[in-house]
Order: sequence, then C-alpha cells, then structure tokens
Amino acid sequence: MPIPYLPRMTQADRTRQLAALDHAHVWHPFTPMRQWREAEPVIIVRGEGPYLFDTRGNRYIDGYSSWWCNVHGHRVPAIDDAIRAQLDKVAHTTLGGLASPPSIELAARLAQLTGLPKVFYSDSGSTAVEIACKMAVGYWFHRGCPQKHRFISMRGNYHGDTTGSMSVGYSETFYKPFRPMLFDVDWFEPHDLAELRALLERGAERTAAIILEPVMQAAAGMIPQPPGFVRAVADLARQYDTLLIADEVATGFGRTGEMFACQHDRVTPDIMCLGKGITGGYLPLAATLCTDEIEQAFQGELAERKTLYHGHTYTGNALACAAALASLDLFEISNLKSPLLDHIRQSAVILAARLEPLRNPPHVRDIRHRGIMAGIEMAPIEPLAASRTPPATSNAASLCSAMRPKGLLLRPLGNVIVLMPIPVIPHDILHHMLDIVVETIFGLTLP
Ligand SMILES: *Cc1c(COP(=O)(O)O)cnc(C)c1O
Repeated sequence: MPIPYLPRMTQADRTRQLAALDHAHVWHPFTPMRQWREAEPVIIVRGEGPYLFDTRGNRYIDGYSSWWCNVHGHRVPAIDDAIRAQLDKVAHTTLGGLASPPSIELAARLAQLTGLPKVFYSDSGSTAVEIACKMAVGYWFHRGCPQKHRFISMRGNYHGDTTGSMSVGYSETFYKPFRPMLFDVDWFEPHDLAELRALLERGAERTAAIILEPVMQAAAGMIPQPPGFVRAVADLARQYDTLLIADEVATGFGRTGEMFACQHDRVTPDIMCLGKGITGGYLPLAATLCTDEIEQAFQGELAERKTLYHGHTYTGNALACAAALASLDLFEISNLKSPLLDHIRQSAVILAARLEPLRNPPHVRDIRHRGIMAGIEMAPIEPLAASRTPPATSNAASLCSAMRPKGLLLRPLGNVIVLMPIPVIPHDILHHMLDIVVETIFGLTLP
C-alpha cells in the first residue's frame, strides 16, 4: 500500500508513528480512552465499495456503515463526481442572507419524498433534533400557548449528544454526570401506548411534542417496534393536540426497507429529523423538516420577533447538499419504487434468514432486526461444559474485536453486537459478513 506523502517509510513504521500520535492527541467519541490506548488502532486510509483498507494494507468489510451513515459504499463515482463538480464552483456559501442551488434543489427533493414542505439545514443528527425541539416549543409559543413546552419521549430513545437532544434521550450511563444540565421530560415505557395515553391525559396542555425513533430504537440496542406502533403514536398526538417529532436520523434513507421508517405506517409526522445517511455517508449534513403550519407560526411583522433565531455556520453546505442530491439520484425513486430499496429488502430477508436460527444458544439473550439493522444481544454465561461447543466469549466488545482479523469491522452497543451493513452491499459480501459473525460468535462454520 503506497503512502504517498512519506514514501521512504515502511507501512509498519508509518502505522506505529500514526498510532503514537493518535494516542497522544486524539480523543475518540464514545470511547474509553485508557483501554483504547492499550492497543494499536486500525487506521483507515482508503475505501472502495463496502470495503475499508488500513495502513497495514488489511481489507475489512465496513459492517457498521462507518457508524450507520454510509449508504452506497465508499468512493461511489456519481457522488465523487457531484462533489468535484460543486467544488469547481464553490465549496461553501452561507444560507444566512443568501441562497444556493444545491440547498434549494435538495430541499425540494426532500419535501417531495417526505411530504413535509419546509426544510431547515444543520450539520449533525443532534442539531437536527435540537432544532426540532425549538420548532415545536416556538410553534406553541407563537400560537399563544407558551405553557406547551414539555416533551414526551420513550425510555431508551437516543437523539444525540447536545444538551437538548440528550434531554429528550434516555440513558443511565451516557448522561449521568450531565443530569443537572438537562431539562425534564415525561417518559413512557417502550411500546406502552396506555402509559403514553395516560401521560397525555394528565399533561397534554403542557406538552409541545412527542418524540419518537420510528420503527427501531437504534442506539438502545436495536429494539424494534410492533407494526402499527408509529401510527398509534401519531393518532394519539393528533387526538391530544400535540406535535409528533420523528427522529429518522438512523432509520432514514432506506435502512428499514422504506425510504423513511414512518412510511411503513403511512405516517407523516409534524417534524422529521434527518442526518447520517442523507449525504450517502460522505459529508456532515442534517435537516429538520416540518409542515407549512409550523413554519407559518414563525411568520409575522418584524417587530413581533417571531423569527426562528437559530443557525449554524455551515448550514446548507454546498458540497454536502451536492453529495445528498447525488445520493438521492442513486435511489432512482419513481412511483414509490426504487431498485435500491428492493435490494435492501432482499438484504433484509437474507439477514433475517441467517440470524433467526441463531436464537437459542445460552450465550445469546436475544436477536432483533428490522430491515438491515440488527442486534445480537449476548448474555453473560456460566462456563460451558467441555462437551459443548464453547463460544470464545459472550462479551460483545471482545467478539467484535475477534472479527477484525477475519476482515470485518463491527462496533458493539453495550453487550449487543450491532450489524449495520452498507445498504447496497452485494449479497455475496453480506453472506460473507454473516459467515464471519456466525463463526466468531458460535465457533462454527454453518453451511
Ligand atoms: C446518531 C443519531 C443521532 C445523532 O446524530 P449525530 O449526527 O451523531 O449527532 C440522533 N438520533 C438518532 C436516532 C441517531 O441514531
């Protein structure tokens, strides 16, 4: 593997040098840093389709889609070209006081795909949620209901890591030190519609919005919802005159087999948050979409000061919007049909068929999947009798590490092994990925 900028160094020397600098200077996200520094990191230098290559020349399947955002694989000619073409015009101009063709075209496309006509751009899923919360509270404020400023959320939801998005999310471990800086939210247990109704019965007049990860609570460890659940929540929101925010940051852009997860239940939420896959996984971009009615609440005479006073420097970045447009083109959606969505649905069938038979071993507590998102929850177990095929371990993190030398990159969530294959992964490579998973967890090669 050539290392163009330091041609005289060997791969091993270059890797050690970079590893030392990483250990000295880079603070990695969601990473226990002492343990991180005990091993040499995998340092990725190149990608190609579903594969990533490290400084030592090893090839890996990108089994978690570069943290759930890649859609079409790496180095996709159409997206590369779209970014280069935009780069030849201008890389970034602001949406504050100015407009730009890529942000206009993308907003129109997203509006058409979601049924939500107004698009507010930002640069991460967390900010998309932050903006959704401000839209909801501001909407009621400007309509003369300032008391409607609270949120209802489902235990286990994850919405990002900024203060507002942490507040509407639930995690015993992630947020513990930060509790004092978070605002108070009303919680209901996963899938408990009676509890949700009771919360609304008691407090709808204080509630700005219900926020939901539709169809699949992803970061909670891949917890799917029963069919019809999103519809039921949407109906309750309507009935009790509160807004519904759908956080589609993880589920959007085909992950669940529909373009957006809400579409399984034919639900159009009042506000939708998009991120991760929006640029095909190329560049940081997010969008918060809403109804005309919500945006209209922020209109008035200048003196009324109803403007949504919110914005980020890189809002609507032109390179990112160009990448997003190229990514949407690759879905080739017409009349609600798309060859790419068909491919994803076939992948989902493969994933289900390969995972379902693995349900029963004692070291597997549960297997959950929807579309091409799956979680294998490991159970800590007693040492197995010598006669049984022993699993190497039932620790999700160790199992994921054990898959690396076999050419597969995965990242656990707690004790859940998360499978998030790149949506367009060819089916033979998906099978190979599942071979590695099965062989590592169960210590056997299945036919
Ligand atoms: C990842 C995620 C976010 C946060 O997105 P970032 O881009 O990491 O800030 C928000 N909501 C859901 C459902 C997510 O999965």
